[in-house]
Amino acid sequence: MSEPIRITRATHKKEKPKDKDLSFGTVFTDHMFVMDFEEEKGWYDPRVEPYGAFPLDPATAVLHYGQSLFEGLKAFRGKDGTIRLFRPQKHVERLNRTAHRMSIPALDPEVVFKSWTTVVDVDRAWVPASVGTSLYIRPTVIASEPFLGVRPAKRYLYYVILSPVGPYYPEGLAPTKIKVIDNYVRAVAGGLGEAKTAANYAASLYAAEEAKHEGFTQVLWLDGVQHKYIEEVGTSNIMLRIGDEVITPPLSGTILAGVTRDTALTLMRGWGVRVAERPITIDEAVAAAENGTLREVWATGTAAVISPVGELAYKGRRLVVNQGRIGELAQKLYDTIVAIQYGEAPDPHRWTVAV
Ligand SMILES: *Cc1c(COP(=O)(O)O)cnc(C)c1O
Repeated sequence: MSEPIRITRATHKKEKPKDKDLSFGTVFTDHMFVMDFEEEKGWYDPRVEPYGAFPLDPATAVLHYGQSLFEGLKAFRGKDGTIRLFRPQKHVERLNRTAHRMSIPALDPEVVFKSWTTVVDVDRAWVPASVGTSLYIRPTVIASEPFLGVRPAKRYLYYVILSPVGPYYPEGLAPTKIKVIDNYVRAVAGGLGEAKTAANYAASLYAAEEAKHEGFTQVLWLDGVQHKYIEEVGTSNIMLRIGDEVITPPLSGTILAGVTRDTALTLMRGWGVRVAERPITIDEAVAAAENGTLREVWATGTAAVISPVGELAYKGRRLVVNQGRIGELAQKLYDTIVAIQYGEAPDPHRWTVAV
């Protein structure tokens, strides 16, 4: 049996923002979950404590070599007041897959799951209620050993912080303008692309900033070797509807196995939509746009759920998708997933877990 979770409640409660003022990841709740790892003890002392800063030695390994991981999932408050996590088990499994790749010691899946339900329960008053809002859950592991040698650390910190959030993109479901990147890469085969770890984000910033300065919302990454195959949009997975088929790149090591990706694929297969997880080149997408068969493009991820792409810029050309409007399948996926998340539609796959 796992160690009981100690709970220390905050004596000062913060003021909660109004639902309409929520953006993404700027406000944090009153509590956080923390657990330590030492080589001799394993993971120990799981606890909920008041949200606050960690004292970190300047030599702390993660600050130098980036040995870390994170996850991202959400809790939703339904009209009936029930708070539901969406597919937490999938996130637990992915957290441990990333841990393995990052040479971070595995965490007990039961303890990770309980860390989420426990801290959300303590801060349940922070789960916003309006549609489009939710409580974002950010589990993180960092190598906390003060040591400058290069090897996996012997000490780690696992923590979970919570942030009430509004829509990820200020423009909401409005289709995004995406720049196809053919001069920088996010990940290469055999690298860290399939791990949810800080390094991938650091690698992505420069190109994304350049694209934003040029007026784009996000970037589309191509493969790291030939700059030919479509991989991901920003920090989301991508799906293209060409003719009567939906195509998404396969999980071949360079892209993240998104939970929303899996959710969308499962739903579409259930609806009888033809879906293919296969490599797709940017040239195939351009050709489809030119011959009129590129019907929809959208990104999938926990933060935005479904984010339609209205325009793709590649080699100085602009491909407009579905006249810059959200397509019918993207809209149906969004509506279906959101309805399940807020407990307004049946949940035949048992994706939600009440807290
Ligand atoms: C988190 C993430 C995604 C989306 O995964 P979800 O589980 O759907 O939120 C996609 N790509 C990258 C690089 C990510 O970090």
